[in-house]
Amino acid sequence: MTSNILDGRLVSDSILKEVSREVKALVKAKVLPKLVIILVGDSPASLSYIKQKRLASKKTGINCIQKVLDKNVTTEDLISIIEKLNKDKTVHGILVQLPLPEHVNANIVIRAIDPMKDVDGFQAYNLGKMFLSAKFECLSPCTPRGIIKMLEYYKVGIAGKSVTIVGRSNIVGKPLAIMLMNRDATVTVCHSKTAHIEDYTRDADIVVAAAGRPKMITADMVKKGAIVIDVGTTKVDNKLTGDVDFEKVSKKASLITPVPGGVGPMTVACLMENVVRAAKRLTPK
Ligand code: NAP
Repeated sequence: MTSNILDGRLVSDSILKEVSREVKALVKAKVLPKLVIILVGDSPASLSYIKQKRLASKKTGINCIQKVLDKNVTTEDLISIIEKLNKDKTVHGILVQLPLPEHVNANIVIRAIDPMKDVDGFQAYNLGKMFLSAKFECLSPCTPRGIIKMLEYYKVGIAGKSVTIVGRSNIVGKPLAIMLMNRDATVTVCHSKTAHIEDYTRDADIVVAAAGRPKMITADMVKKGAIVIDVGTTKVDNKLTGDVDFEKVSKKASLITPVPGGVGPMTVACLMENVVRAAKRLTPK
């Protein structure tokens, strides 16, 4: 690996160590942080994401339970399961693995999760707090938070930087834009209807690629010395592939995340942090 790598495994390990310490302290106080992951169906991609979450839970001492539901489960059934988990005092985090089958109304399902247990940070209440100020971020979405923490770890100043994000999803692009803006970056967000994306990426100090389009960010699209964050994870010929043409862009970038080993582990580590945070907030002092 070259020296301009932003190493997500290294940074996530340091976060997981801190999470383990916090779990130990909670266990001493007779609270075992518990995360329930709900999976509908058996998509190999979802199973592989959940595997990473379970491994990180094991590393940190978090009790992670996986509930697998039949792919034909209804929206109503899912809501009733979530309502039971909301009431269960031993459960601190509830995560519904996305995507859900098309017949399920994902928005209504996510809305059913108690905001205090919404460890993915997808609930309007938690997004609203994040929107107001960096100071109010609590259960914030794990991928954008992971990116911020990665930049902080490597002491990349955010204030005053121009950032171009490619992708405006509710779980990555949009919340990341808000988090960066709340830290005084100037942010441009591109999407599938943006004409000439290269006009925006070429000017940026930091480029974040989160479109799910393998290798769409080519070397001619970034300026020399730019910091490049690759969120994309698409299986191409059975190989996890990012949105950035890593081989060529890494020669031009001052810092760059690899795929795998970049943003992915940061997302999982931030989820573990959220579970501990939720457990602390739900525990009466
Ligand atoms: P998503 O919901 O499909 O959103 C993709 C976004 O990219 C949309 O805003 C879309 O624009 C935009 N887009 C698609 N094609 C584009 C193009 N050719 N040019 C410019 N913009 C384009 O995806 P997501 O959930 O945000 O995930 C994005 C990628 O990140 C995926 O590869 C996913 O697997 C990966 N991911 C990784 C992690 C991790 O932890 N590493 C976490 C989450 C996601 P429109 O809005 O106009 O449709």
